[in-house]
Formats: sequence, C-alpha cells, structure tokens
Amino acid sequence: MAVIIGVARETAAGERRVALTPETCKKFVAAGASVRVERGLGRGAHFPDPAYAAAGAQLVADADAALAGADLVLCVQPPPAAAIERLQHGAVLVGTLQPQADPARAAALQALAIVAFPLERLPRTTRAQAMDVLSSQAGMAGYKAMLIAAQLAPRFFPMLTTAAGTIRPSKVLVVGAGVAGLQAIATAKRLGAQVEGFDVRPETREQIQSLGGKFLDLGVSAAGEGGYARALTDEERAEQQRRLGEHLKTIDVVVCTAAVPGRPAPKIVSAAMVEGMQPGSVIVDLAAETGGNCELTRPGETIERAGVVIAGPLDLASSGALHASEMYARNVFNFASLLLKDGALAFDWDDELLAKTVWPQPPAAATPAAAPLASAT
Ligand code: NAD
Repeated sequence: MAVIIGVARETAAGERRVALTPETCKKFVAAGASVRVERGLGRGAHFPDPAYAAAGAQLVADADAALAGADLVLCVQPPPAAAIERLQHGAVLVGTLQPQADPARAAALQALAIVAFPLERLPRTTRAQAMDVLSSQAGMAGYKAMLIAAQLAPRFFPMLTTAAGTIRPSKVLVVGAGVAGLQAIATAKRLGAQVEGFDVRPETREQIQSLGGKFLDLGVSAAGEGGYARALTDEERAEQQRRLGEHLKTIDVVVCTAAVPGRPAPKIVSAAMVEGMQPGSVIVDLAAETGGNCELTRPGETIERAGVVIAGPLDLASSGALHASEMYARNVFNFASLLLKDGALAFDWDDELLAKTVWPQPPAAATPAAAPLASAT
C-alpha cells in the first residue's frame, strides 16, 4: 500500500502558511504517495482547493479525516496536543515542532510513539540547505521587517533630487546579520537607503559588504558552535552597548534580528539608547518573538518612546504566506524525500540528517528494517 500523507489546516492564531502546496503535492503523488488534504488548507496562502485536487490530492472535510490513518503528517506550526492525539500510533510528523517548548506536546508525541522530525533541529550543513526551513522563513521575515520599517518611517529611504530640494537618503542599521538580517540589508539597499549592519560573527563583515552595506565594527567578536553566535560576556556586552549608543544617534531606522539559539533574544538596544535617538526614528524588532533585541519592544505591538516608533511584529514569515509556503513546502518535500523509498517509508538512521533531526533520538536498533515505521507496500 502506498504511504498516506495527511495535511490538516494550521490552527495557530495568525498562521497563514501551509506545509504542502499544489506543487509539492504533485511531487509526492509522483513519488507514489497518496495525499489527503483538509478542505481549505491553502486558503490563507492563496492555494485553492481545486489546485490541490488537480495535483492529485484527495480533499477531505476536516482535520480528523485528513490525519486519521496517515503515515506521514506535514505541518508548519507545532500541532496542539489534541491534534497529535488524532494521529495513528507510530506516524511520522514533519514540521517546526518545538517539542520541548510544551510538556503536553512532548508527552502526546511520546505516548503515541510519533516519529517526530522537528525541522528546526536539522543540521545547517550544505546538504541540508534545500531543507532548511529556518533560512527560507527568515528570508521572508527579514524582507517584511524592512518593508514595515519603510512604511513606519516618516522619511524617504532613497536620496531624491527634486524641485523642492534634495532629500538625503535614510540611514538604516541592521542588528544581527544572519539570514534575516542579510535579507533586510538587501531590501533596504534596493529601496535606496544607506545601510549598515553588524554582527558578532566576524564572517558577516564580508557578507554585509557583498550586499552593498557597510559593516559597523563595535569591537566585539563572539562566534559560537555550529556557525552560530554565542552569548556575550558582561564586558563584551558593555563595550558593544557603549559604541552602539553613540552610533544610534545618527541612525534613522533600525531593524533588529539578533538571536542566539535556545536562548531569549539578546538585549542590545537599551531604553537609554532609544531616548538618545532622533525623534522620527523607527525600530522594527524582528526578534520580538523571542523577547526582542530592544529593551522597550512589546511583542505584537507598535509603541512610541521619545518620538521613536518601536514595532515588535509577529508572524512576519506568515505575512508573506504565498512565497513563504512555497519555500517551506519545498524544504519539507526535500526532507521527506529522504524518508520515501519506492512509495513507502523507510529510515536510514546512518544518515545524519535523519538521526540528528529526529526527536527525541533515533531508535536503538538503527537499521531501516528495524525502524518503527518501515511501513511497507
Ligand atoms: P540566528 O537567527 O540564530 O541569529 C541571527 C544573527 O544574530 C546571527 O548572525 C548571530 O550571529 C547574530 N547575533 C547573535 N547575538 C548577537 C549580538 N549580541 N550582537 C549582534 N549580532 C548577534 O542565525 P541564522 O540566521 O539562523 O544563521 C546562523 C548561522 O547559520 C549563520 O552563520 C548562517 O550563515 C548559518 N547558516 C548556514 C546554513 C547552511 O550552510 N546550510 C544555512 C543557514 C544558515
């Protein structure tokens, strides 16, 4: 029997993205899978039901019908414990699952022996790039954050020479130059601003410059493990703050994107720094989801302090749901392809992409034949 793939509508507030698009549905069907989709799945991302039907999906009335008996379940947001309880014992679940973030979710996954692949655990290797949902979604988030900043700013971004005189370009600073930060820099540059960026990983200097930005050197270097940043020491943080506070007095727009894996967002822009900025300046804090890089950020709100507007938007990737879903669904398809052999599920636990991503850990007898879901034809 062909592997059954089930996809239910996302239920998290504000979530418009989907883990399966008509494009990837067609690819799964071509790979021998049978795909069941809850009606209305792609509505928020502008993928209509007939497009899924044309791609070979069976449209079903509700989440229960989509998930019951499915061998492989795809999602964007972590499903609530109640949804996990609908899955069949030993089903495979692929998505951004954050199992440890919610004990009830973790318990529900384990009670049903769900083979969970939280894609945020995927190693950031070259081979995994085509499956890297953190990168694809951060790209959309960085782009949208800069557009929000441009929208909130009471200025033009580009330099303009007009009959009413010359307008100087906006000075934009991007805090943190990971995937989101680099996309924010590229977006500000396309809009004509003068752009600077800084990061604690020294390799970002060249990356920022390659996008036409200027690297702001705050004298702190803190590369950590796995290509990520480490948390700063108190001395490093004080030095970064001192130099940054002075510099911010000259900046019109700040987009914050700094993160350290597994920790709350580092606090980089203090209330005193905000008060030292020019009235009419704007801060957009993309790190709001994990507490914010600015001390004054209120997640989900836009506030004003001393004439400076501070926005902490949530669901940024979801606000570009169509392209964010296209990228996410391709990432998911590329990952799921590692599990599909001749239309059935099989697990090669010698493949580090599977072994390091599965949660909580690979089965003890790490052979495909002994894996819990070597579900067969
Ligand atoms: P992230 O979201 O964890 O962090 C965003 C940025 O914040 C990082 O660049 C980090 O260095 C920076 N940061 C942390 N603390 C800071 C501080 N106090 N001040 C200033 N900046 C600070 O990072 P990400 O965007 O997910 O990318 C992390 C790394 O992974 C990067 O090196 C990226 O190039 C790499 N990566 C590799 C692959 C791959 O090869 N498959 C794919 C994606 C990303």
